[in-house]
Amino acid sequence: MKQLSNQELIKYFKKIRKDFPILKQKVHGKKLVYVDNGATAQKPQVMIDSISDYYSKYNSNVHRGLHTLSEKATSEYEKVRTKTANFINAKEEEIIFTSGTTAGLNLIANGLLDKIKKDDEIIISEMEHHANLVTWQQLALKTGAKLKYVKVLQNGELDFKQAESLLNKKTKILAITHISNVLGTINPIKKIIEIVKRKTNHKCLTIIDGAQSIGHMPIDVKKLDCDFFVFSAHKMCGPTGIGIVYGKYSALEKITPSIYGGDMILEVEFEKSSFNKIPFCFEAGTPNIADTIAFGTVIDYLSNIGMKNIEHYDKILTKYFLDEIKDLEKNYGFHFYGPKAISKKSAVFSFTIDGVHSHDISTILDKFGIAVRGGHHCAMPLTNSVMKVVASSRISFYFYNTISEIDYIINCLKKVKSEFDKGEFLF
Ligand code: PLP
Repeated sequence: MKQLSNQELIKYFKKIRKDFPILKQKVHGKKLVYVDNGATAQKPQVMIDSISDYYSKYNSNVHRGLHTLSEKATSEYEKVRTKTANFINAKEEEIIFTSGTTAGLNLIANGLLDKIKKDDEIIISEMEHHANLVTWQQLALKTGAKLKYVKVLQNGELDFKQAESLLNKKTKILAITHISNVLGTINPIKKIIEIVKRKTNHKCLTIIDGAQSIGHMPIDVKKLDCDFFVFSAHKMCGPTGIGIVYGKYSALEKITPSIYGGDMILEVEFEKSSFNKIPFCFEAGTPNIADTIAFGTVIDYLSNIGMKNIEHYDKILTKYFLDEIKDLEKNYGFHFYGPKAISKKSAVFSFTIDGVHSHDISTILDKFGIAVRGGHHCAMPLTNSVMKVVASSRISFYFYNTISEIDYIINCLKKVKSEFDKGEFLF
């Protein structure tokens, strides 16, 4: 689809809601306002139909049988590898199917176990999701490597000066999120990758956690020049249980398969085995066939809308919300975390309200039909040590959210605060 103007985008995305059956329902008698998209996005009917189609028409294992159903399943399944590669400007053999971002990051870290040595250095940031933190913490513990953190400034951005001072010849891994799932910070990863490569003489692997960016903007892994880019289908309207590791071919050659079994082998003898070629050596066992194929329909669906249009509409919602929250911060005791500059901020907003616990906020908003997240958002060090709170509430938008939903949310947030102040609970 061509690129649309602001007014055209607002109109277009208002209509798109009809593609999502779940959004038609009411919660506690109120129209559902789903703004927990950072956790998982809702699913269009085409994707739901695709799962049913596979199970009712050609359910069969892939890469194995020579019968009609298996050939159809294999062909549909492998088509998704091509679609995924085209979606992010990679080559087919650079696409590994996993079960999600967490599994993908673990696949890379476990694959580097025999490469990382004592005294090597791994750099991550203080804003990482546990999936991109605990994984490297464990690799450091197992190998004796040193784990270093890029600091997060009070404005929610990475401390570039400090980051540069961490880099040296011992740096072997930089694993960083593209967009923070708590602060909504859009990290300038292209610039970061350039600096890292230059300062480490191209010896450091750059690993990008793309869980929060893949569904919100066009991604071109060649332009980024990252070694790995990892994401989950469910954050971009796809099913749960399917994720992607993009690995530059030369980087994939550096990691060792760590899950063994069928499909990942070439020859097996009683004493030894040889492994299949990349990427199949990283895909042991029967894969998640139905969900992979359904993910393919979502790639088509999003590509048809146009990732540029999605990115642009994200900005419209983000800008509108940023303007609205000024009053909440000034007059209602709200604190919003993360950058306030539109170019550095995605549609993810974490906040606290003086005197109200985040779990109470979630429960009360639920009574208004609004689905938000409360807690540490799988980023405990960031929440506790940087934001210095126990928990926060998070509103995260996607393209089926509307300006009128934002108006409704803002009104409800004001009600939550004033009722708490009066000591009168709403329900
Ligand atoms: N990284 C980030 C930034 C995330 O937001 C998430 C999920 O919330 C993950 C990693 C983990 O993704 P998954 O649970 O799909 O493996």
